[in-house]
Amino acid sequence: MSDKTVTARAVPGGAEPVDLDAYRGVGIFLEQHNGQVSPVAWELAGIGRKLADKLGVELIGFLAGHGVEPIARAAVERGCDRVYLLDHPALAVYRNEAFARALVPVIREVKPEIFLLGATTTGRDLAGTLATTLQTGLTADCTQLDVDPETRLLDAIRPAFLEKQLAVILCKKHRPQMATVRPKMMEPAEPQPGRQGEIIRVDVDLDESQLRTEVLGVIDEPDPQAQLERADVVVAGGRGLQDPKNLKLLFEFAERVGGVVGASRAIVDAGWIGREYQVGQTGLTVRPKVYFAFGISGAIQHTVGMENSELIIAVNKDPEAPIFKVADFGVVGDLFQILPALQAELERRLDEEAGHGAGAGEGTAGDRGVATGGDVPAQARGA
Ligand code: FAD
Repeated sequence: MSDKTVTARAVPGGAEPVDLDAYRGVGIFLEQHNGQVSPVAWELAGIGRKLADKLGVELIGFLAGHGVEPIARAAVERGCDRVYLLDHPALAVYRNEAFARALVPVIREVKPEIFLLGATTTGRDLAGTLATTLQTGLTADCTQLDVDPETRLLDAIRPAFLEKQLAVILCKKHRPQMATVRPKMMEPAEPQPGRQGEIIRVDVDLDESQLRTEVLGVIDEPDPQAQLERADVVVAGGRGLQDPKNLKLLFEFAERVGGVVGASRAIVDAGWIGREYQVGQTGLTVRPKVYFAFGISGAIQHTVGMENSELIIAVNKDPEAPIFKVADFGVVGDLFQILPALQAELERRLDEEAGHGAGAGEGTAGDRGVATGGDVPAQARGA
C-alpha cells in the first residue's frame, strides 16, 4: 500500500476589484407569473424600502415579463422610486436563460448596491445565475436583513446549524450584495395610492431563436405549496395524530374553517402526507392569521416555519410540549377529543352567524363528550 500526497493549489483569478462607490440604491426583483405579482415581491418592497431609507438611497424595482406594466405602477405605489420594466414576448413565461440575459445588462448599468429576490422556486433559480454572471456573492434564504449606514454593508441574516444560531453574512468586496428572502418573513409594503415614481422601459435584446429552451405550453395545476403559503388559516398536524387515517380529521376541520392543511416533518417522513404540506426549516414558512397545531411537539425546526403566525392555537396532551412556548392559546388534552369539540363549536357559531343558529344543545362540545377540554398552560404566548 502506498501513501499518496495531494497538493492543493489556490486557483488564480476571481473577479476584478470592484469600485464599491459606483453602486447605489436597493434593487428588488418583482416576481410575477402570468401578470399576477408574487406576494413576496411586496414583502421585498417593504424591507427594501426600510434598507433604502437607512442608506438614503432609492428603492429600484426590476420587473420582467410581457404585458405587466400595471405591476410596475403598483410597485411605485408600494414604495419603489424607479422601476425598470423589461417587456418582451420571450419573457412571458419564466425561463432562467431569458430572464438572466435580459436582467444582467440592466443590473450592470443601474448598479444597485443591494439586490434582493424572493426565496421562491423562481427567485432561487434566477438568483444563482445572476450572482455567478455578475460575479458577486449571494446569501440564500434570509429571514432577516439589516444594513449598516456607515459601512453600507448588508447584514444578510439566516438560520444556521439546525436553526439553532443565526449567521450574519457580509459581502464586502463585490456588488451588488445579493440575497434571497424567505417568503412570509417580512411585512409587505402597503399601497400608497397616488405615490409618484419613475417607470423606465428597457429595450430588451432577446432573440427567441438563440434561447436554448422553448415554451411549448403551460400546464396550470393547483399548487398546494402556494395555497399553504398564502392561506389565512393553516390546520397542521403531527405525529400525535397517531395514524395516517386520522388525517381526515385535519382535512375536514380545514374545510370547515376555510383553511389549508399543513404537516410536521415527522408525518411527511413517515409517508403519511406529501412533502408539499411540510411546514418548517426544510419545508415552508407560513404566516397565516390562525395556525392550528394538533399533536405537534413544537421542535425548533417546525416552529421556525410558523412562529410568525398572527394567532397560534396548539393542542397537545403533554403540558411541557415546546409548542406551548410559541402558542397564543394552548389546550392540554387529547386531540381526538379537542379537535371534534372545537369543530362542533366553530360550526355552531358559523351556523349562528349565517342566521340559522343551531338550537341549544345541537352539536355543542358537550354533546361530543368532551370534559371541558384542557388547561391553558401558563407559558402560552400572551397568556
Ligand atoms: P413528535 O415530536 O413525535 O411530537 C408528537 C406530539 O404529539 C408530542 O408532543 C405528543 O405529546 C403529542 N401527542 C401525541 N398524542 C397526542 C394526542 N392524542 N393528542 C394530543 N397530542 C398528542 N420538522 C418539521 O416539522 N419541519 C421541518 O421543516 C423540519 N426540518 C428539520 C430539519 C432538520 C435538519 C432536522 C434534524 C429536523 C427537522 N424537523 C423538521 C424534525 C423536527 O426536529 C421534529 O422531529 C418534528 O417536527 C417532530 O414532529 P412532530 O411534532 O409531529 O412529532
